[in-house]
Amino acid sequence: AARGRALVSCVGVTRDFGGVRALDGVSLQVFPAEIVGLVGPNGSGKTTLVNLLCGALQPTRGTVAIGGRPIGGLAPHRVAHTGVARTYQIPRPFESMTVRDNVAMAVMFGRTGASLSQARSKAQQHLATVHLGHLADVRPGSLNLHQRQLLEMARAIAAEPVVLLLDEALAGLNPAEIDDAVAVIRRIHATGISIVVVEHLLRVLNQLSTRIVVLDRGAVIADGDPAQVLSDPAVVRAYLGR
Ligand code: ADP
Repeated sequence: AARGRALVSCVGVTRDFGGVRALDGVSLQVFPAEIVGLVGPNGSGKTTLVNLLCGALQPTRGTVAIGGRPIGGLAPHRVAHTGVARTYQIPRPFESMTVRDNVAMAVMFGRTGASLSQARSKAQQHLATVHLGHLADVRPGSLNLHQRQLLEMARAIAAEPVVLLLDEALAGLNPAEIDDAVAVIRRIHATGISIVVVEHLLRVLNQLSTRIVVLDRGAVIADGDPAQVLSDPAVVRAYLGR
């Protein structure tokens, strides 16, 4: 295929929670060099899909594969070693450690198996990538929400993933902070990491994404070029119809 081999993919994935079908036959592929915007109304299954792609949840039916290999029953920490990393909506850094050591710990848990001093120097590089180089010595408690989200990204890229899943990393930010976070996401992307961004702000997705995938009631209702997808009547209906 023109886009090469999928880095991560799910095929015909259904996920039930008791009687609730959160995802219903979803197929999605993420290719090298992409920034995929994942959107949909509340409850459409976005977080469930992110949790499936990083191995935190198992599908009820269907398969998730990383680098062409089904991840089956791999534990989430094993999936991290296969190249998919994610951030959480609510950052939970180690509050007693400096910002630098939070990232250094993530480096050490990642694939490189570095010493603490090597990990700290690598951490400083990751912090520079996310515009937090000047705050390496403070504790997370003195960071604002935006900076905590950036720290979350630094911890995720410390695992040296090939795909990074960002779950609402821009939620609650002001316009200047959103611009800064978008610049950081572009910078991470420029290091060769494909990105899946779960985001409500369509304006941001339109400028950031190379492709947009829309979920509605657990199914993919659009997948393609940002401008085309965002003007698709079915997409407009899914957003405005409720
Ligand atoms: P989104 O991220 O798009 O808001 P979610 O993936 O969080 O959607 O949820 C999709 C559907 O699955 C919702 O109906 C939600 O209530 C349900 N759901 C998600 N996680 C669970 C869970 N752990 N237990 C029960 N229902 C869940």
